[in-house]
Amino acid sequence: MKLLITGGSGFIGSTLVLTALARGHEVVNLDALTYAANPNSLNAVRDNPAYRFEHADIRDSGALTRIFAEHQPDAVMHLAAESHVDRSIDGPQVFVDTNVGGTARLLQAATDYFKGLDAGRTARFRFHHVSTDEVYGSLGATGRFTETSHYRPNSPYAASKAAADMMVRAWHATYALPTLISNCSNNYGPRQFPEKLIPVVILSALKGAPIPVYGRGANVRDWLHVEDHADALLTILERGRIGEVYNVGGDAECSNLELVRLLCAELDRQHPRSGASSDQITFVTDRPGHDFRYAIDAAKLHGELGWSPRFTLADGLAQTVGWYLEHADWCQQCLARTDGENPLGRLGLG
Ligand code: NAD
Repeated sequence: MKLLITGGSGFIGSTLVLTALARGHEVVNLDALTYAANPNSLNAVRDNPAYRFEHADIRDSGALTRIFAEHQPDAVMHLAAESHVDRSIDGPQVFVDTNVGGTARLLQAATDYFKGLDAGRTARFRFHHVSTDEVYGSLGATGRFTETSHYRPNSPYAASKAAADMMVRAWHATYALPTLISNCSNNYGPRQFPEKLIPVVILSALKGAPIPVYGRGANVRDWLHVEDHADALLTILERGRIGEVYNVGGDAECSNLELVRLLCAELDRQHPRSGASSDQITFVTDRPGHDFRYAIDAAKLHGELGWSPRFTLADGLAQTVGWYLEHADWCQQCLARTDGENPLGRLGLG
């Protein structure tokens, strides 16, 4: 298939591009290259004839129409988004513009293109919207989110993704666009921008700086390795039922404090001279509206499509720590893309 992947220069997108190419798909990567992208993440495939890059913004309808006409994709996998909850609290408008407005424009361009396809290609076409479990809000100590859980988003980021999910649903019901939605738990792995928890912990620990943990570190997340997420996304695209929602999770719940301790222990194992230690943990004022716990019930994806994750949390964290230890240059490139605003500085890490 020829896949139009939006946000392919970001964290999950770059893993998806690499995985899709390895599986024999052709890929067109549409990305605006915001601060969150690192074009070097895809250096390995830059000259691959099955890979094309389009520097474009999903808020630009004209560009979207041209890209659909020029590349004639068989499917869209939509990942482009503003993705950082803390930034959405500081400045929500761009989250609404990109995640809601941009998704609406992309849906419309896809629908116009879809209507012009011949019968054979119409039957194959899919629009896969990649979303988050944060749309469901927060859980208490028990229970897990299923595909029928109520939407109760608590951050501007989660609300913008929830609105986008609703529009995808509406475009399916109203215009018969063949859509798929997946809602996934927290991802980790190589090439995650160093403003998200796991790379922040690794880089802070290596610098000998305080390791910031919100509140008392009791918030619980369900972690999934990004390569398992990419595998799930392609499985859903290839075999998912049109109009359906699939939850994706790793069955790997962990409190933030436990996670930070695991990372420090792994750093110490792989790089004993780094001096990284749990003693560096510093509790910082909790995020407003901070969801207590997320947990995903992925039974539908397991049962219907036979998908399951390959990484255990221990193996995945070991691989991730190893990657960051070997890619200090990649981290520096990311930090250089933030207009002098060092995301570690945002967290009081200097
Ligand atoms: P990311 O911030 O690393 O990457 C986002 C990419 O989108 C960047 O390459 C950026 O340049 C691009 N982009 C942003 N605005 C754009 C625009 N207007 N036009 C075109 N491109 C634009 O994000 P990520 O962590 O890789 O997340 C990808 C998707 O997966 C997002 O939709 C996110 O909501 C969803 N998701 C993420 C997680 C997670 O744990 N990271 C979990 C579940 C779902």
